[in-house]
Amino acid sequence: MGTSYPALPMKSHTDRIEIDGVSLSPHHFIGGERIPSESTFEVRSPMDWNKKLADISQGDHETADRAVASAQEGFKQWSALGVQKRTDILFALADLIDANAKDIATVECLDMAMLLESLNLRLVPRGALNFRNYAELVVEHQERAWSSKGTNNRIIRDPAGPAIIITPWNAPFMLSTWKLAPALAAGNSVILKPAEWSPLSASLLADLINEAGFPPGAFNVVQGLGSEVGAALVSDPRVRRISFTGSPETARHIGVAAAKNIVPFTAELGGKGPLIVFADADIDAAAKKAAAQFEDSGQVCLAGTRLIVESSVKNEFLERLNYYTDQHIPGDSRNNKTTLSAAIHPVHLQRVEGFVERARKNGDKIIFGGGRFWEDKLWYKPTLIEPLSNDSEVVQKEIFGPVLTLQTFDSQSDAIDLANSTAYGLSGIIYTSNAQRAEQVGRAVRAGTVWVNSFLVRDLTAPFGGYGISGIGREGGDYALDFHSDLKTLQILDGSVS
Ligand code: NAD
Repeated sequence: MGTSYPALPMKSHTDRIEIDGVSLSPHHFIGGERIPSESTFEVRSPMDWNKKLADISQGDHETADRAVASAQEGFKQWSALGVQKRTDILFALADLIDANAKDIATVECLDMAMLLESLNLRLVPRGALNFRNYAELVVEHQERAWSSKGTNNRIIRDPAGPAIIITPWNAPFMLSTWKLAPALAAGNSVILKPAEWSPLSASLLADLINEAGFPPGAFNVVQGLGSEVGAALVSDPRVRRISFTGSPETARHIGVAAAKNIVPFTAELGGKGPLIVFADADIDAAAKKAAAQFEDSGQVCLAGTRLIVESSVKNEFLERLNYYTDQHIPGDSRNNKTTLSAAIHPVHLQRVEGFVERARKNGDKIIFGGGRFWEDKLWYKPTLIEPLSNDSEVVQKEIFGPVLTLQTFDSQSDAIDLANSTAYGLSGIIYTSNAQRAEQVGRAVRAGTVWVNSFLVRDLTAPFGGYGISGIGREGGDYALDFHSDLKTLQILDGSVS
């Protein structure tokens, strides 16, 4: 890798496809040009699996090699622009995302069946906000200077070099912008490798990046399989940062590649969040929030999937949970009445079904759900399981489907022990009306983000990441800017220069 880069072996392609009236390129975006691969992979909509949406260029080692070379060139220009000029371009990109929000939401909804209303109201606007937020933060992120021991000390933040951003198939647009914004704001060039199950919105983003005025090679998109082009990208020694969101299994592979090249690496990984309900809580609000965990087919890393409820309110909670779960409407995610979307892919749904079947065999009790809505389609019923023990696989492993477990406790310390009894530690949700308990349990739950009486409310300047196998490092706010920079201490002896 790195030395065998062939001289322009592929030609730029301008052919485009249409997805529900939105035009996009099925090819990579490298060095400011659309570059095809001979091989392609198919994209289908979870809402209509029989219909192919697109054939997308499938990158290989050569594509990765070319993209990294382009990112090296792009880095020179982008980093040399300086903070103010880069910030102007990031704001321009945010405005372009707002102006094209409807198209992005349309394509993403078809691609991975996320509810159109959530995309329109929450996730696509958040994409623009990610860029605005980092355009502002990078300006505020001043160099620190102080005097000590007869020297003037300064901390200088240098852009680090080409960064690889690898994203999962759930919420791909929002998640990619969350990772791209700090990398670009810090002055790094980037190569985005979206997941092969939901690659389309990345292509729209490339069009907008082009329009916003980024220099060629500052932003590149490479499409293809993680085990092929993804692995080639993260193994390239010219890469200086890797920011990954996905499963712990993949993170282990990427971590090995990063270690070989001594490249800093952050990983935002899976979760198995507790949703703890104390008897003093607003039980109706807690049950409503528990039922909301079934939305988007449960494909949310931060979801509170382990319901941990004080024994004395179990029946009341279950009654309310049943009520709110019954209100859910499965269907086409483009319909605003739909609240339950299809699973991303038949292979993923079979994985979810496997967990539930093994739970049945294990003797765990299926309280409700436990099957598809329609035999030949990808909608799975909201499912609640009362496990035989805390060791049950459905309690200990991330399912990433609309499947929750229900456990009970009699004391605050038991609730904390249950909450902290998996290898994960991404998020936690606590329902209580007692301020002291909120403080004690909030501190005791071992997770990167803990919400009390709320969920998914985020301040983008706060650190974000996981304990345990839920992640390495922190993104968000200054944490991500530091990650994407090389920090230098510059010390000048007092009185030695004039
Ligand atoms: P995944 O790990 O299978 O794939 C993620 C990405 O890694 C994809 O783009 C894939 O192509 C790529 N990849 C796979 N093998 C690779 C390799 N060897 N080298 C380089 N890249 C490779 O995850 P997924 O199934 O797409 O996503 C679901 C997982 O993501 C769940 O565990 C979920 O909890 C997690 N997730 C975490 C967060 C978070 O912020 N913590 C957010 C969303 C999703």
